Amino acid sequence: MNNKHLSLRIVEAFRQVLPADKSSFVPLHEPAFKGREWDYVKECLDTGWVSSVGKYVDRFERDLADYTGSPFAIAVVNGTAALHISLLIAGIQAGDEVLIPSLTFVATANAVSYIGATPHFVDVARDTMGLDPYKLEAYLRDIVHVQSNGQSFNRITGRRIAAVVPMHTFGHSVELDYLVEVCERFGLTIVEDAAESLGTFYKGRHTGTYGKLAAISFNGNKIITTGGGGAILTADENIAKQVKHMTTTAKKPHRWAYDHDQIGYNYRLPNINAALGCAQLEQLPEMLHKKRQLAYRYEAIFAQVEGVEWFKEKEDGSSNYWLNALLLEKPDEQLRNSILDFTNDNGFMTRPIWTPMHRMAIYDHCPRMDLSVTEELELRVINIPSGSDLFHN
Ligand SMILES: *Cc1c(COP(=O)(O)O)cnc(C)c1O
Repeated sequence: MNNKHLSLRIVEAFRQVLPADKSSFVPLHEPAFKGREWDYVKECLDTGWVSSVGKYVDRFERDLADYTGSPFAIAVVNGTAALHISLLIAGIQAGDEVLIPSLTFVATANAVSYIGATPHFVDVARDTMGLDPYKLEAYLRDIVHVQSNGQSFNRITGRRIAAVVPMHTFGHSVELDYLVEVCERFGLTIVEDAAESLGTFYKGRHTGTYGKLAAISFNGNKIITTGGGGAILTADENIAKQVKHMTTTAKKPHRWAYDHDQIGYNYRLPNINAALGCAQLEQLPEMLHKKRQLAYRYEAIFAQVEGVEWFKEKEDGSSNYWLNALLLEKPDEQLRNSILDFTNDNGFMTRPIWTPMHRMAIYDHCPRMDLSVTEELELRVINIPSGSDLFHN
């Protein structure tokens, strides 16, 4: 089959699945405001409570904790800030190494760098597109020296390996059970990058509740949005207090005095963004339902298209299907690019997966394991339109 033929088949499949009235240009993932967004935001404007304090911040945090089953949720200004603070509070220090997938959005690596720590890139599993705990374990056996205090050190670089940051790619959960086991064995803290996985459960438990801390994002392209925003999940009350303190300029509580006991950050989420978030969260179950229906349609239609495979969730997880993905049969940059060009030319927004971190100049000097699955997926994955509004009865 030639390139043109496969591109045509994919566009035909899109035309059958996606609503006709959107045929001008179908975006990859558009936000949908179908609930009480206007009411809640208007209330902020009417009352003047638009900024750093207000009832919607508290409510959003409570609603998030309820939905995810996490004892504590702290709202912050974006997902990157959530990652940054999570790593800080987890005890990562300048000079440490932090194991992260190379196949991720750049924010995961950047948050590690903000602290002065070094990202250490690990490979992903083909069936989750997220960190592969089995390959990680074999690698750690090879390169790590575990000290008597239980801490792991990299025998090659001499640096402490402090933490692992699994990322749940496109809303598909990493194999968390085994990862937790491996990390216990090597004394590694887990900080989850759950930026893409609100609404994703692994063995019945929400992603982001397996790590010591986890970061969620509410950027405009995520499953729900607050315009810009993020949250940190944790089960530890003491950690939750530290997170709140560090994200609100580390100001000591007082009726009028300005006294800050650490160099903190202004990372709190404004009330007006939280208002949007409360309205969005009310609709999350409905959005998840629609996204799943859209995913099933893609599954059915692409089962009939030779040359590509629709990426399906594993049985032990329940994906939020944030972004649907097609996989080419084998890595083929030319074929991938011609499909990207043709689909975008024909009104359907598609995108490749991120350029792996270790292939970018800003991170190509960082330590890494064999990344063959990452490099294979880079040239196989194509993301396709996935917004919840694209499903129509
Ligand atoms: C979106 C995203 C982030 C960052 O979130 P922002 O809210 O945009 O700062 C971090 N990691 C991953 C994997 C993401 O997809």
